[in-house]
Amino acid sequence: MLTTHPYDDDKLREECGVFGIFGHSGAAALVALGLHALQHRGQEAAGIVTCDHEHFHNHRGLGHVEDNFGNEAVIRRLKGANAVGHVRYSTTGETLLRNVQPLFAEMEFGGLALGHNGNLTNAMAIRRQLVRRGCLFQSTTDTEVIIHLIAISLYSTVEDRLIDALRQIEGAYSLVALTKNSVIGVRDPLGIRPLVLGKIDGAWCLASESCALDIIGAEFVRDVEPGEILVLSAEGLRSIKPFAVKPRRFCIFEYIYFARPDSVCEGHSVYEVRKRIGAELARESHVAADVVVPVPDSGVPAALGYAYEAGIPFELGIIRNHYVGRTFIQPTDNTRHTGVKMKHNANRTMLAGKRVVLVDDSIVRGTTSRKIVEMVRQAGATEVHMRISSPPTTFSCYFGIDTPERDKLLAARYDLDGMAKLIGVDSLAFVSLDGLYRAVGEAKRDAKVPQFCDACFTGDYPVIPTDYVEGTDSKQLSLLTEEPA
Ligand code: SF4
Repeated sequence: MLTTHPYDDDKLREECGVFGIFGHSGAAALVALGLHALQHRGQEAAGIVTCDHEHFHNHRGLGHVEDNFGNEAVIRRLKGANAVGHVRYSTTGETLLRNVQPLFAEMEFGGLALGHNGNLTNAMAIRRQLVRRGCLFQSTTDTEVIIHLIAISLYSTVEDRLIDALRQIEGAYSLVALTKNSVIGVRDPLGIRPLVLGKIDGAWCLASESCALDIIGAEFVRDVEPGEILVLSAEGLRSIKPFAVKPRRFCIFEYIYFARPDSVCEGHSVYEVRKRIGAELARESHVAADVVVPVPDSGVPAALGYAYEAGIPFELGIIRNHYVGRTFIQPTDNTRHTGVKMKHNANRTMLAGKRVVLVDDSIVRGTTSRKIVEMVRQAGATEVHMRISSPPTTFSCYFGIDTPERDKLLAARYDLDGMAKLIGVDSLAFVSLDGLYRAVGEAKRDAKVPQFCDACFTGDYPVIPTDYVEGTDSKQLSLLTEEPA
């Protein structure tokens, strides 16, 4: 039996990463490297568009960055000193090549390539209006809505058209755009998704995370501000802030799980934040135990923080296989737990006869947690206490993260005892919302004006999800797949 994504379907998934550079002779190769460092933000497709001031060149394909850009001939064909790139993950249906970004369109002012991380919450509504006006959509992504809004804008300059388009859209977006003479970076007014500015050999570059700057040896300059448009061109760097300033609402889940631990987001080291969440957990829900064991890899920093704070030895009681492909053949239909064991295996010597604190970053459906707990018990653990470095995930995300419908989220269906029973642990605890906020440097969550987006824990959405209709699947419009207009 062929099974796809058997072990990863129980995690929330970041859907995209972007990278852009202006004025570097090795632009395509640098973007490919940057995208490689952002691979965790999307593994199903990758694309790069370059411009040599005259012509645009593009290569987009399904699969990993290395599959598409590991070939020197491909990089050589991507001529020009200016480039943007994108990695993408899609949830359902086929990952169609026409949905792979950066999207490209010929406009009145010349070519435009656009890569988007995030999700527009009113894309379906705008798309319907645009289709009524005769716009012909080539893809099923929300990003194309922005392209059409730019195309029909009555303003003359690219920047003014872009601003005109952005005024009409709602939701989360970190964008990189490429025109004949510039690379443009944009972050939505709430700054929900990350975007950082870097510099290498005198050339400006943009990336979803700072780890993508590190890989090319670029200097981290700063985060792009929420609501800021950065124009990188031969004239240098220009910042435009056309929107009313709003309180920032950066996605707090970037710290918990999405971002790479070696990235710095909004001034905080992701690794340090994760360790501090672990320490908060240890203070909030201490339990007598012999070892603290992370569910690798994402649970490692929080488990370290927990172990240090609780004074309990940290051990790698579960070993992760890093060479798991995206599909596999199960020997028989009833081979139990093959999926989870392909990725994680119990390290028996560290678990037998021990009281174990198991640390993971989140529980989504709970299916993987249950299998991991069973595996740890089979390895001889006498007690299993699960500690989760996020509050219970009880709401869906509409801002570019793939979450199941609410009724599939374990924490939306069961209370703490019910969840503990279901996944088979002796005790279960999640970090509190205030504990999480303390870990990111706040005294507590400001209930009136929350300092972050935390809607998947609270239901307090910073933007009304206009397109979402209760009881339907129309929640993530960047992932329209084959939905008609
Ligand atoms: S709902 Fe959750 S995952 Fe989505 S942007 Fe907000 S904090 Fe991040």
